Amino acid sequence: METQINGTTQLVGFFAYPAKHSLSPKMQSLAMQLTNTDAIYLAFEIKEEQLDAAIQSIFTFDMLGANISMPHKTAVLQYLDGYTTSCSLIGAANTIVKRDQQLFGYNTDGIGFTRSLQAAGITYKEKTMTILGAGGAATAMVCQAALEGVKTIHIFNRQGSRFELMKEKIKEIQQQTTCKVTLTDIYDEKSLQEAIYYSEILVNATSVGMQKKDCPINDLSVLRKGLVVYDAIYQPQETYLLKQAKKNQAITINGIGMLLYQGAASFELWTHKKMPVERIQPMLEESK
Ligand code: NAP
Repeated sequence: METQINGTTQLVGFFAYPAKHSLSPKMQSLAMQLTNTDAIYLAFEIKEEQLDAAIQSIFTFDMLGANISMPHKTAVLQYLDGYTTSCSLIGAANTIVKRDQQLFGYNTDGIGFTRSLQAAGITYKEKTMTILGAGGAATAMVCQAALEGVKTIHIFNRQGSRFELMKEKIKEIQQQTTCKVTLTDIYDEKSLQEAIYYSEILVNATSVGMQKKDCPINDLSVLRKGLVVYDAIYQPQETYLLKQAKKNQAITINGIGMLLYQGAASFELWTHKKMPVERIQPMLEESK
C-alpha cells in the first residue's frame, strides 16, 4: 500500500531529541494508510533552543498537530492555548492538536496505560496498584490511574530527586482525586512485599529490565498466581520480570500495549478516526 501525497496532504510532526529511534512514525504512517487519511507523519530532531520555532511551524505549515517527546514534554506547555486536566496533573503533554488557529495539549501516555489494561480485560477502577518507578512513565501512569478511579497506588522508587518530585506530585493528586497514594523507598523490601500482597496490579515503570536478567524486584515469590504484572518496557517484549511472573501463573502484559494505545489516542485526536490497532500491533511486535 502506498501513500499518495498530493497538494492537500497534511503533516503531523514528531518533535523530540533524539527522534530517529522512535516507532511512532512507522505506527502513525501505517494507521494513516490503513484509514485512507490524507496526511503524513514525520520525525524531526528538535533541540531545546529549536522548540519555539518547531511549535510555530505547526502554524506555518498548517499542520494537524504534533507528538512531543523527550526532552520537551514539560517545556511545551508554555506554548499551548489550553490543555487537559491530565496534562496539568502530569505536568507534561505529548500531543498537540491545532484547532481554529489555537494549540491544545493532551497527554496520551497515561491513557495508553489504562486503555491497554482495558484491552487485556483488566479492571482497575476501585483496585489497588503497586507501581515501581517515579520517572516520566510512572508519573503519567499514576496520574491517569488516579483520575480514572484507581483506589490506592503504592509507588516505590529509590531515594533521590525523582523521589522528592513525586512527593510533591502526590500532594496535587490527592487534592484533585480521591485516590490514596503512598511513596516508599524501593529498597524497603518488607513494605514492597506487603504492598504487592494487597495489590491486584503490579507495574514496572522503571527502566530496569531492558537488559537481560535485570529485574526491579528481588523477591520473586510475590509474583503470585492471578496477580496482574505489567511491564512498561517493550524492548525486550518479555522481560525477566514477566518471564518469572508467567512461571508463577501471574497475568502478564508488556509495554507494547501502552505504546500502541497512546498512539491510537493521539491519532484519534488529529484525525477523528479510530486507529485499526489490531493491524498495527503485529507491526510493533515485529519491530526491533
Ligand atoms: P525515566 O523518566 O528516566 O525514569 C526511569 C525510572 O527508572 C526512575 O524511576 C528511576 O529511578 C528508575 N531506575 C532506573 N535505574 C534503576 C535501578 N537500577 N534501580 C531502581 N530504579 C531504577 O524513564 P521513563 O521515561 O519513565 O521510562 C521508564 C521505563 O518505561 C523505560 O523502560 C521505558 O522504556 C518505559 N516506557 C515505556 C513506554 C511505553 O509506551 N510502553 C512509554 C514510556 C516509557 P531513580 O529515580 O532512582 O533513578
